[in-house]
Amino acid sequence: MDVADVCIINACTLTENAERDIKRFINQCRSKNPGARIIIAGCHGEVYPERDYGADLLIGNREKFDISDYIHLDGTIRGKDNSTSIEKAYIKGVQAGKTRFFLKIQDGCDRFCTYCVVPFARGRPRSRPVDEVLGALKALKAKGIKEVVLTGIEISAYRDHERDINLKGLLMLLEESETPDRIRLSSIDPLYIDDEFIEILRESKKIAPSIHISAQNFSDKILRLMARHYTGDYLIDMINRLIKRVDGIGIGIDIIAGFPSEEEDDFIKTCKVIDSLDIYYLHVFSFSPREKTEASKMPHHVPGNIKKQRVSILKAIDRKKRLSFYERFIGKKAVIIPEAKIYRDNLIRGYTDNFIPVYLPYKKTLENRLIEVKIKGLKDGLLIGEEE
Ligand code: SF4
Repeated sequence: MDVADVCIINACTLTENAERDIKRFINQCRSKNPGARIIIAGCHGEVYPERDYGADLLIGNREKFDISDYIHLDGTIRGKDNSTSIEKAYIKGVQAGKTRFFLKIQDGCDRFCTYCVVPFARGRPRSRPVDEVLGALKALKAKGIKEVVLTGIEISAYRDHERDINLKGLLMLLEESETPDRIRLSSIDPLYIDDEFIEILRESKKIAPSIHISAQNFSDKILRLMARHYTGDYLIDMINRLIKRVDGIGIGIDIIAGFPSEEEDDFIKTCKVIDSLDIYYLHVFSFSPREKTEASKMPHHVPGNIKKQRVSILKAIDRKKRLSFYERFIGKKAVIIPEAKIYRDNLIRGYTDNFIPVYLPYKKTLENRLIEVKIKGLKDGLLIGEEE
């Protein structure tokens, strides 16, 4: 059996689970590749440089992109300033025929929400200049990529300072530029979703009507403790405006369960509100205290078993929401972009613009094309479509 000489763990640090994963990966690497050098790269080293868990080398985010310069060294290496410019987008190496590409347009955050370790890991906000974003999108179109997701730590903080263009300005420019057919946005701050933003989404021929909102909670008390600067009523109103104005929009919501001081009543209120909203899905997180954050030092932490219960209640609401969102589109037509991957029963999957996965019988000619389908119905939990 071949063994690796070097094992690189690109390590997240967002939750306690991420930390457990690092230790597990190190053990796996050691047992499968005795004698290999072990390197931990990325956010973990930025926030907890003293925790190397026996790895030979620990490097930060900046060093990770020049890893060949450091690979033979030992110890901990990370620059003092982790707010350096965003790494180059490597379009040249992109495989032709790939369906979706994640283009980072923004990095860093300085908002310091009380539960979040990201500002320590990623440094201050900075953005890829507009010309670079447009150039990358043009090159991706030439490569045959059909869908691009614009990503960032907090894309609402996007700003090209030289040209004085923010995210809304960038989205308007995309409309007139050469880009792949479909543009998606990664998760976004609720406060950025104002009438102007909703109008841009509504009018756009390219930006997918699917949005992932980092709401985190609907209780005013918890939102205040999290240092999120909006209220539950603001969220409800904004989400209802989105639903009313953007036809068929698929709305996903991040929710943190078990934040310190979250009482049963706060949790029930959040569940009731979510239940009443016509959203697509939830991403549920269990509150995870991270050293250095304000929330880790707060009193009244919620016991682990209660957090678990709350997570499973929210996950049940998520399953219900997804199903009823799918059902709304049965019998309707949609455009999907099938990926080059076969699932069970010889099915191929493509997403609609509002991010519904639709499955079709596999045909090579369907891969990576915009295909109009009719959504026929659910079979074993999968939405089955038929070519129109
Ligand atoms: S939750 Fe988002 S906005 Fe708040 S500090 Fe973390 S990255 Fe920044």
